[in-house]
Amino acid sequence: MITNTTRRFWFVLLTTFAFMVRNRSVRKWFWVPFLILIMGFLLPQPMNIPVQGATIQSWDKKSFWAYPWGTSITHKGIDIFADKGTDVVAATYGVVVYTHEGGKGGKSVMILGPKWRFHYYAHLDEIHTVPLEPVDLGEVIGTVGDTGNAKGKPPHLHYAITSPFPYPHLYDEVSVQGWKRMFYLNPDIWLR
Ligand SMILES: [Zn+2]
Repeated sequence: MITNTTRRFWFVLLTTFAFMVRNRSVRKWFWVPFLILIMGFLLPQPMNIPVQGATIQSWDKKSFWAYPWGTSITHKGIDIFADKGTDVVAATYGVVVYTHEGGKGGKSVMILGPKWRFHYYAHLDEIHTVPLEPVDLGEVIGTVGDTGNAKGKPPHLHYAITSPFPYPHLYDEVSVQGWKRMFYLNPDIWLR
């Protein structure tokens, strides 16, 4: 739920299961999507900082879930600052789900990585990948920019990770939009 991407993920998953239940000829293959789901969760998730040459000083770890944060209410990712034109590299291996231009994110890329997690790269100056392309860890997917609502601000990569499957232990009754934290993972945990 939460984002369009996780909503579409659930739509595809549930329609696949519904189709398999309704059609006798494929019902016996019901375990196949289950197996694929489980295998996805078992994939290891090696990661690197998604901006070439960036260090842990390139972002403010307190900016994750910072409030208030404009029309987003809370800040659901981290901003990695770098010169405009610096290479943005994939933080994990995965498959490009979509590339987009417009809205708050400006030029953006969504990659499905291991463990069914969606990795969102926004405010890019240029996009150097295409939908459905498999990407390696560290492969260049674009460049740092200030597109979307980053216009007029220092160029940075907005990087966020969402999961269509909630992590109940991340539920936070204190923060603003605390229940949404079950679906947004803090990239800082893996990048330092
Ligand atoms: Zn941001």
